[in-house]
Amino acid sequence: MRVVDNLRHINERINEACNRSGRSSDEVTVIAVTKYVSPERAQEAVDAGITCLGENRDAELLRKQEMMKGNPEWHFIGSLQSRKAKAVVNAVSYIHSLDRLSLAKEIEKRAEGTVQCFVQVNTSLEPSKHGMKKEEVIPFIQELSGFEHIVVAGLMTMAPLTDDQDQIRSCFRALRELRDQVQELKQPNAPCTELSMGMSNDFEIAIEEGATYIRIGSSLVGNETGGVQQ
Ligand SMILES: *Cc1c(COP(=O)(O)O)cnc(C)c1O
Repeated sequence: MRVVDNLRHINERINEACNRSGRSSDEVTVIAVTKYVSPERAQEAVDAGITCLGENRDAELLRKQEMMKGNPEWHFIGSLQSRKAKAVVNAVSYIHSLDRLSLAKEIEKRAEGTVQCFVQVNTSLEPSKHGMKKEEVIPFIQELSGFEHIVVAGLMTMAPLTDDQDQIRSCFRALRELRDQVQELKQPNAPCTELSMGMSNDFEIAIEEGATYIRIGSSLVGNETGGVQQ
């Protein structure tokens, strides 16, 4: 399938989910997750009108960045080892995986300007998922108040891989409630307006629960192993 056709179909589903929940589709940005595919396939997404690309490995992100045209905005969506932060921090617009103080310190040290970060939250409490526990998030963000180079743009989560829609929905809803609590802190470097949640299997539920960024890989660009596979 051509990316442009997949995108048209996804946009229809986004519009329907927005209609159901009384939202405007302008509030939802698609990040094309290109971690499975070649730079050529990722380029197809940009040519189809995608403005944000997501990668989860530093080397692959930098490789694609060098090859691709159209100046897309780069989002780092994978778990980030502190020693890799240096390579990533100044190459991307957003980091979706801030989940510990040691990483925040490394970002603070390496950043040349401000770095827009999402705090990753483990809303499902599955041990295999990265991210902080919900109750750790507010104290963590308060600890970041003195970090001049970090802006907490929002929160990010991954729902469990399950057919239980209620379970998925409750993870997304918990993230939105937590986002609202962070906003109440009125902390200057934590506007926390964004919610990064929803993937190929669950983005419609995420939109209904308030997602502002959805991260779509397989149903948009596919998951052929032409590029780097995790
Ligand atoms: C791979 C990945 C995605 C995209 O997943 P699909 O199910 O292929 O849409 C989104 N978010 C993160 C963090 C990922 O690692």
